[in-house]
Amino acid sequence: AKSAGGNRFELADPEADARAITRHGLTTALPAALDRGEFFIEYQPLVHLGDGSVRGAEALVRWLHPQHGVLGPDRFIPLAEHTGLIVPLGRWVMEQSVRQAREWRERHGDGSSGPLRINVNLSPCQLGHPGLVQDTVDILERAGVTPDALCLEVTESALIGADDDLLKPLRRLADMGVDIALDDFGTGYSNLANLRRLPVSVLKLDRSFTQGMQQFPADPVDLKIVEGIVALAHSLDLAVTVEGVETGAQAEQLRILGCDTAQGWYYARPGPPDRLHELALADATG
Ligand code: C2E
Ligand code: CA
Ligand code: CA
Ligand code: CA
Repeated sequence: AKSAGGNRFELADPEADARAITRHGLTTALPAALDRGEFFIEYQPLVHLGDGSVRGAEALVRWLHPQHGVLGPDRFIPLAEHTGLIVPLGRWVMEQSVRQAREWRERHGDGSSGPLRINVNLSPCQLGHPGLVQDTVDILERAGVTPDALCLEVTESALIGADDDLLKPLRRLADMGVDIALDDFGTGYSNLANLRRLPVSVLKLDRSFTQGMQQFPADPVDLKIVEGIVALAHSLDLAVTVEGVETGAQAEQLRILGCDTAQGWYYARPGPPDRLHELALADATG
């Protein structure tokens, strides 16, 4: 710290300063990082709770920063959203992921439980971008896969109060056969009746519900809530995916509650694409 009477600015919390500099530094480094190929994608399997088969994977982006090492998306996605870089970055993630889906489909065939699918996260900024539908069509065509290879995850909070203009591109994608999943469901206080209006086919139940299933038997109130959500989802023809499954007890309780697919460290951490291929093969043969 500087001597009293010096520049007051320099007396500010040094840690907050460091954070701000890093944030600023990361923000300005983002565009070049995309050009230099510093981003990479890890894939986390989605497993059917009934039979344990691998049905697909969620694509999760990471940044291999030359000075700071591997950065998780929570560090840079908000910055990319703020600067608009999320549009080209998101397009890059979709392109890589859809190509990966094609490769899995070629190597794995249709498997015993149907062709593998890829889930890609869509930021609200991408949803509002006019090129979304055409970009998606182009990416699927270039990769030579059918739209059912792709599921786009949109958070519940991004769609709360969404008007028809925002829903239109999602409807067009859904009509083409792309699945739409409502991510982090249960955190956004959305009107449940509102669900009927949204072109979604999957609910992804937020990790906070899974955490409530840690003890066996789980808290009876948590059980009732999840039971209610699953019943509602199924009555609307929506599949239910649960995230953040870390233990066998959680998986078992969520299976009994009627959830369809699960994702979490209990099955696998996010990892390189070959890992998913191995897991899919393992469950096809054994
Ligand atoms: P999300 O979409 O809710 O993704 C799930 C997060 O939970 C991932 O964190 C995943 O690694 C983590 N996770 C998976 N299984 C478990 C588990 O069993 N226990 C716990 N505690 N965590 C688990 P990650 O990879 O750090 O991603 C964080 C968020 O960043 C994602 O949350 C998503 O909102 C965003 N994100 C990731 N990739 C992209 C992307 O390509 N585009 C956009 N727009 N957002 C992305
Ligand atoms: Ca997600
Ligand atoms: Ca989620
Ligand atoms: Ca989340």
